[in-house]
Amino acid sequence: MEYDCIVIGAGVGGLIAGLKLSQENKKILLLEAQPVPGGFATTFKRNGFIFESALHCVDALGPDGEIREFLKEHNIDKTLDFSELNDFARIIYPGHDFVVNFKEEDLIDYFKKTFPDESKNIDRLFHAMGRFFEQFDRYRESNLPSWLEFIFLIFFSPSLIGISMLTAQQFIEKYTKDKKLIAIFTDIWRFIGLPPSRLSALYFLIVLRGYYCEPTAYIKGGFSELFAAIVSKIRENGSEVRFNARVDKIITHKGKRVKSVITAKGEEFYTKAIISNANAIDSLTNLVDNDKIKADYLRKLAALEKSISAFQVYLGLKVPAKSLGMSHQILSINTTYNHDENYNYCFSQDYDNCSLEIVDHSQIDSSLVPQGKGSLLIMIFDLYAHWKDLTQEEYKLRKQEVADKLIERAEKYLPGLSKNIEVIEAATPLTMQRFGLSPEGAIYGFTQTVKQSGTNRLSQKTAVGGLFLTGAWTRPGHGVHGCFVSGMEAADLALGYLKKAAASRVK
Ligand SMILES: Cc1cc2nc3c(=O)[nH]c(=O)nc-3n(C[C@H](O)[C@H](O)[C@H](O)COP(=O)(O)OP(=O)(O)OC[C@H]3O[C@@H](n4cnc5c(N)ncnc54)[C@H](O)[C@@H]3O)c2cc1C
Repeated sequence: MEYDCIVIGAGVGGLIAGLKLSQENKKILLLEAQPVPGGFATTFKRNGFIFESALHCVDALGPDGEIREFLKEHNIDKTLDFSELNDFARIIYPGHDFVVNFKEEDLIDYFKKTFPDESKNIDRLFHAMGRFFEQFDRYRESNLPSWLEFIFLIFFSPSLIGISMLTAQQFIEKYTKDKKLIAIFTDIWRFIGLPPSRLSALYFLIVLRGYYCEPTAYIKGGFSELFAAIVSKIRENGSEVRFNARVDKIITHKGKRVKSVITAKGEEFYTKAIISNANAIDSLTNLVDNDKIKADYLRKLAALEKSISAFQVYLGLKVPAKSLGMSHQILSINTTYNHDENYNYCFSQDYDNCSLEIVDHSQIDSSLVPQGKGSLLIMIFDLYAHWKDLTQEEYKLRKQEVADKLIERAEKYLPGLSKNIEVIEAATPLTMQRFGLSPEGAIYGFTQTVKQSGTNRLSQKTAVGGLFLTGAWTRPGHGVHGCFVSGMEAADLALGYLKKAAASRVK
C-alpha cells in the first residue's frame, strides 16, 4: 500500500500537518519515535503531580486566537477545556515590577506613566508596530505563491521588508534610546532565546503581539490534552498514527523524489510525499538516503546557528505556590536591564545573575496537582557544552547544585519555598537533546537572527521532490504558534505537490 503522505514526528508541526492532510481526505501515516505525542511540548507525571515538560504559556489560544479558531473549525475545541488567562506575566527588574495583561492600551499606559519623558516616543513606537501588524496580516491573508510574494510585499506591505532587515534593538532604537524602557519592552526575548541586539525584529514583534497584546488560554489537564485530541481526530479521519516508531531512513528515487521510509524496526512504508517534523539536521543529513544531497545540506546547515538550550527545575509543592507569594502564573526575574549581559550570564554559568522564569501552571489548573498542593517550574537558559563532557557522577552533582541555586534564588521572592518541596526533578541541555531529539539540546531550532528569520529561514521545501519540513527548525520558527503555522504551510505544500503529481500521471 502507498500512503499519500508520511509524517515523521508528532511534535506540534507534525501533528498539525497530519491533521490538515487527513481533513483533506489524504491517507497519512504519522510515525513518532516516542511513546506519546507533543515532542518538546509534552507533559510528565511524578508522584501525582503533572508537569509541563517545556511549555510556559502558548499564544493564539484565546477565543479569537488563530489556533483556537482552527480547533473550533475542526470541532476539536469541544473535547478540550480552556482556562482563559487573566494576565501573561509579572516582570521584575531592579527598579521595576509590573504585570503584562494582554491589553495593549494598559501596556502603553504603564510605559507612559513609568517613562513620562518618553511619552511621544512610546506613541510613535506603538504606531509603527500597529502599521507593521496591519501589513503583516495583509501579507499572511494574501496566501500568494512564493514567486509573487516579493512583488506583493513591495506594494502592499513595504514596512515588512524594512523591518525584516533589522534587529529588535535597531527597530526600537528608531523610536527611543531609553535603555530601561527598551529592556522592559523586550523582556519577551526570553521566549525566543536571543538578546534584542541579535534578534530579528520580525520574529520579536510577532511573538510580542502574541503574548503582550492578545488574550490566551491554558488547556486543563495540560497542553498534552490538545495533542491527544489531535491524534484522535487524525485517526477518526481514517489515517494512522503509530508511536515507538522511529524513522531511520527516507528512501528516494535517486534523490529526485521520495519513495518510502524505513523504521528502526525495519518496516518499510511507501508514500507519495513526506513531511518531516524531525529536526532539519537529522532529516536532511542523516535520514535522506542520497549522499550528494546529504553532503550539500551538511555544508549549508553547518553554517547556521543553533538556538540556546535550557535548564529547568520542576517542583511538586506541599502547598499552592500562591500561598508562598506566587501572585501570577509567570514571574520573570532580571538582575540587569542589559539583555546582552543577561544572555552572557548563561555562557559564563552565572546562575546567580542570569534571568529566571518561574511558572505556576497549577495556579490556573488545580487538577495538575494533588488536592491542596502546588507546583512550580523554574527555567534558565544554559548551554549543551556545559554538560556534555561531565562524567555520570559529575553530571548528577552539577544538576543538584544548579537546581539548589535556582530554588535559593526563587525563595527570595517566594519565602518558605524550600521547606515546602515534595517532588523535585530537573532537566538539563542533555535531557533536551535526549527527549526532544534535538541537536545540542537546542530548544528553539535555528536561532532567529536577521539572517535566519522570515524569508531567510531554512525553507520548508527541500532538494528532494515531495519532502517537506515542518517545526521549529524551518519557517516561520519555534513556539507552539510558530510550529502550528509551519504545520499548516507544510500541509499546503504537500497538497500542492500531490495535486501536481496526480495531474502529471493523468497526462
Ligand atoms: C524548555 C522549553 C520551554 C519552552 N517554552 C515554550 C512556551 O512557553 N511557549 C511556546 O509556545 N513554546 C515554548 N517552547 C518551544 C516549543 O515547545 C517548541 O518550539 C515546539 O514544541 C516545537 O515543535 P516542533 O513541531 O518543532 O516539534 P518537536 O517538539 O521538536 O517534536 C519533534 C517530534 O519528532 C519526533 N522525531 C524526531 N525524529 C524522529 C524520527 N527519526 N522518527 C520519528 N519521530 C521523530 C520527536 O520524538 C518529537 O516528538 C519551549 C521549548 C522548550 C524546550
